[in-house]
Amino acid sequence: MLVRGVVFSLDSGLPTEAKFLLEDFRLAVNNAVRAGLQARVTSRNALVKIAYRDFRVQHPRMYAQHLVSAFEVAGGVLKNHRRLVRKGVTCRIPYVERLMMKAENQAYKLDRESGVIDLPIRAGCHVELKLVVSQFHRKYLNDMALSLGSLTVHPDRVIVAFRKDAPKPFVPESALSLDTNERSLDGVFVEGDVAKAVKAEFPEVAIIQQRHHDRRKRLQKKKAHDRRTSRNLCRREGAREHHRIDYRLHQVANSVLKFAEERRSAIVLEDLKGFKSKRSKVLNRRLSSWPRRKLHQIIEYKAQWRGIPVVKVDPRNSSRTCPICGRIQDSRMGAEFACECGWHLDRHINASINLLQTAISKGMAGGLRFDPGAFQQDVMMILYEPAMAARSEPNGTSGIVGAT
Ligand SMILES: [Zn+2]
Repeated sequence: MLVRGVVFSLDSGLPTEAKFLLEDFRLAVNNAVRAGLQARVTSRNALVKIAYRDFRVQHPRMYAQHLVSAFEVAGGVLKNHRRLVRKGVTCRIPYVERLMMKAENQAYKLDRESGVIDLPIRAGCHVELKLVVSQFHRKYLNDMALSLGSLTVHPDRVIVAFRKDAPKPFVPESALSLDTNERSLDGVFVEGDVAKAVKAEFPEVAIIQQRHHDRRKRLQKKKAHDRRTSRNLCRREGAREHHRIDYRLHQVANSVLKFAEERRSAIVLEDLKGFKSKRSKVLNRRLSSWPRRKLHQIIEYKAQWRGIPVVKVDPRNSSRTCPICGRIQDSRMGAEFACECGWHLDRHINASINLLQTAISKGMAGGLRFDPGAFQQDVMMILYEPAMAARSEPNGTSGIVGAT
């Protein structure tokens, strides 16, 4: 079962009754966390068993299903806490500060036509939450193949989970093999006897990473006397950075998937699991690799949702191997891969050809075939470039590309 959370803003804010409910819910979650810690249990069912009766007395106003849902949230908090403790991280007793509540799908009603949620507060008291419905939201509301999952309510927005069974991936008629780099996806698109280079560029991601890295360093120096402030500021910086990068990665992923869907392509990616730079920490001034992993996550998840086949390949030696004669070069070269047999090609694109060949030789790309000799060096298809990001951010970040 695939789940996608869709965020809606509220047309006229949260009704007062619902605000009280959020506070009650938070209180219930934190009480359940305490009860769970004392009894050393973390599962929802165990929490219900030990604490439900007391809770019914302490929270007489709350709808019973919400109470059970509070146990579920508390269970999540407790499991997280237990994981940290086992890792040996010293941490305080967990306390949920943010106002939120979660309701399972039996505990609320959503009119998919009008976008109005009927949320019970307690017996005889319901509130209506009017969602702001855009075209994007319509797609989910109107698609009856999607069933409703849980509802998460925050003071300023709600998240509705839509669920569906994973569609069976189509049988590929072509392949899109991509080598993932710091500033771009580089690869090859193969359809029939034709093979062309493809590129999706996202140079801003590395620039944003670098800028935020510098900013964090400066903050740490400036606030060296005040660790707490420094930590908080850095955390906020990190959240901003993730948000900006995420936005761009989604755009890149969307263009790649659109291309693959239109041409019925299997997407071939390197398996980044266990991928670690071998260099020592001092030498390793490279940017962190999380945007690349994140990009893969987004591509894989969205592909699954849309039934596009994705193939993951062990990238070992993919950047050092000659796809024509199979020689493995001793070391990495500059921007171009050149082999004694006469083959030469952009290093990244060469790597993607090797990924594709591995996928094909292992039978992971259906009945597709590929002959590196058919590769047309002079053609480059652009899947994505920064200029394609039509929306410019209000804070103007995308305008300072190139500045450090
Ligand atoms: Zn060669």
